[in-house]
Amino acid sequence: MTNHPLPPNATIGIIGGGQLGRMTALAAARLGYRCHILTPEPDSPASLVSAAVTLADFEDQAALRRFADAVDVITFEFENVSAAGLDLLASLKPVRPSPAVLRISQDRITEKTFLNEAGVATAPWRAIDTLDDLRTAAAELGLPAILKTTRLGYDGKGQALLRTEADLATAFAELEPKPLILEGFVDFACEISVIIARGANGESAAFDTVENRHRNHILDLTLAPARIAEATATAAQDIARRVAIGLDLVGLLAVEMFVAADGRVLVNEIAPRPHNSGHWTIDACPASQFELHVRAVAGLPLPPAIRHSDAVMKNLVGPDDTALWPQILATPTLIPHLYGKTEARPGRKMGHVTHLFPRGALPGEFGVAAGLGVLGGSK
Ligand code: AMP
Repeated sequence: MTNHPLPPNATIGIIGGGQLGRMTALAAARLGYRCHILTPEPDSPASLVSAAVTLADFEDQAALRRFADAVDVITFEFENVSAAGLDLLASLKPVRPSPAVLRISQDRITEKTFLNEAGVATAPWRAIDTLDDLRTAAAELGLPAILKTTRLGYDGKGQALLRTEADLATAFAELEPKPLILEGFVDFACEISVIIARGANGESAAFDTVENRHRNHILDLTLAPARIAEATATAAQDIARRVAIGLDLVGLLAVEMFVAADGRVLVNEIAPRPHNSGHWTIDACPASQFELHVRAVAGLPLPPAIRHSDAVMKNLVGPDDTALWPQILATPTLIPHLYGKTEARPGRKMGHVTHLFPRGALPGEFGVAAGLGVLGGSK
């Protein structure tokens, strides 16, 4: 199918069963495709809305083979499949984005090396194998600094803020698996992201730069568009395009960035899949990040990533936010999304809401909080 669009009723295989897979499957269904989910989780958010599921571990080679045999193209909502698994999948069916892209984004050292070689600025960083490496790197980069695992970190897991010399040994002992990476602390004015889709023919479409606010290391709010200088928003778009081209991406890519206090834009990390900071696009754009993901993977034309409205997206995290569901449903200005998870554990993303504003009318802090109604003051 390399150069041919995937025909209607074909099957898209999605690795991972979370909410990103669920919303991808919903977008795929609207375009007439079926989805087949590979996940170890029974009743996963994605499998609940998909035609088929292979219930297996991501490293179960026999299951990967059965899954690949049953689908027409393979993509991801979860990117931490081993190199062996990726190679097996790619030997059987088209894998989009390619295993090479996933390998780069799976590892913070490979990722930052790739970015810096592509001329994209990041926080200064050092690879850390030993406590001695950490002492040397901390002296070079200065404190505070952030020590992170290179693999499998997300939502603030697998990282430690080092404030003083005394923090070094404990953080080094606690963070696993090794090796680690030490990053200079970025005194950022705000965090932003750009989501870009790119097709096999090289055409691309990027959504406007958005601002992201975190609470307890988990994304809390996305404001679309970001309230930053136009030159900064454009710089972020240019970076996303450069990264997508450098990766020879086919699919969707989220680029998370810091706007430093001095206005420079530094990339924090990249994710070659739909991203939480793009959920607002379902309600504020004619074609969402999920539709663009499906279109890029299926070889369909990419529509422009335009926005008909400004938007605020707020995540519903854990039991406290979930308890507000009845009030959310009773607020007509909140567009509700729930992911079908049965257990609202603390810190777990259960759903999100979007509040739309006319294009160009995203208000200030007070207006944003007021727009979120019952969720506006939730902490
Ligand atoms: P990450 O898991 O790398 O996305 O980091 C999670 C969050 O930690 C980011 O969204 C930032 O708020 C913060 N953070 C990560 N790296 C740095 C850094 N080098 N300097 C300052 N804050 C950071």
